[in-house]
Amino acid sequence: MDTSPLATALAQLASAVEILGFDSGVHDMLATPRRELRVAVPLRRDDGSIEVLHGYRVQHNIARGPGKGGLRYSPDVDLDEVRALAMWMTWKCAVVDVPYGGAKGGVTIDPHAHSVAELERTTRRFTSEIMPIIGPERDIMAPDLGTSEQTMAWVMDTYSTSVGYTVPAVVTGKPLAVGGSWGRSTATSRGVVDVAAAALADAGASLSEVSAAVQGFGNVGSHAAVFLHAAGARVTAVSDQYGGVAAPDGLDIPRLMEHVAATGSVVGFEGATAITNADVLAADVDLLVPAAIEGVLDAQSAAQVKARWVVEGANGPTTTEGDRVLAERGIQVVPDILANAGGVVVSYFEWVQANQTYWWTEDEIAERLAYRMRTAYDAVASLARAEGLTLREAALAIGVRRVAEAHKIRGLYP
Ligand code: GLU
Repeated sequence: MDTSPLATALAQLASAVEILGFDSGVHDMLATPRRELRVAVPLRRDDGSIEVLHGYRVQHNIARGPGKGGLRYSPDVDLDEVRALAMWMTWKCAVVDVPYGGAKGGVTIDPHAHSVAELERTTRRFTSEIMPIIGPERDIMAPDLGTSEQTMAWVMDTYSTSVGYTVPAVVTGKPLAVGGSWGRSTATSRGVVDVAAAALADAGASLSEVSAAVQGFGNVGSHAAVFLHAAGARVTAVSDQYGGVAAPDGLDIPRLMEHVAATGSVVGFEGATAITNADVLAADVDLLVPAAIEGVLDAQSAAQVKARWVVEGANGPTTTEGDRVLAERGIQVVPDILANAGGVVVSYFEWVQANQTYWWTEDEIAERLAYRMRTAYDAVASLARAEGLTLREAALAIGVRRVAEAHKIRGLYP
């Protein structure tokens, strides 16, 4: 069985289309990216040599508003992966009801193997190549795997220099100093923990009484661990791309954050046992947060999961088979398009603030984010209960139906 992100995304769409009873024409329209741009990104390396990178921007759907989604820097990026991630953005924006379509970008580059100056040149050239299809009303990028606030500042500067005036709303997830929003950098993790709390509450449990494992310790995973720890959960296992650490009584997450800031990895954290990434997925905990890359929970690893709840911080961490195994085993999965939507919700807040040139307080952001996550979770959970669906099926049904509705009301041109 094809376990690629695109195969997974297309299988999820097919299941939603079946639940909603749409015909094949509507299915095709929802499955087909609206616009794709593939560009060469020639980079002059610091040593004077030239490396030609490949860049992509896919606007999967723009029926509900401008394209929205991250920009990923990874040596593994290819067009199909970007297509899948763009499709997930479409459903995600619809589930939390922000007025965007879905898009994603990627450049085939290993950010760890390039200097800051090389990353800046790559970002500026890529931005320049995709200029014709981006803009605050067209398509708005944000950070994703391998990119950061700094990357967004370079995108904004390149775009602004090209049009001749400053356009903060062309990207989100940018630094506060150039019109970023309070709370954007931790928003995805906050949202993950908000919906985890809601899912636990549905079963009469609370974060303060559970143990948790977090796979992936980048922006999403590390802050999820911080918020889980702050809410009283015992975070007993975490991992990053270099390895994992465990402590049965709970890791001291604030100290672990200091260790990561100093060494670049969770590995070697004093007082913890060394474990592998696979051990984290199979950890004996109540709550598992996969927060790294796609496809880590496949048929085999899903069979090893001991957690009762899986809350997907990453995009597409569970394959179709993995999902089936988790469902059969009665494990409650809060799906990516709901669980990690906090990032794009605060991206939306950042874009609104930039468009109004009026900035909100940190408390306003946190309160409005929590409200949106809670509302979206309640809608998904009540549809799941009413129709006997999994949370993933219900979230997809809501997202896909909203996008199809927008198409229907707008009509087909000409
Ligand atoms: N890259 C993030 C995601 O996958 C954020 C996207 C955004 O804020 O536009 O949801």
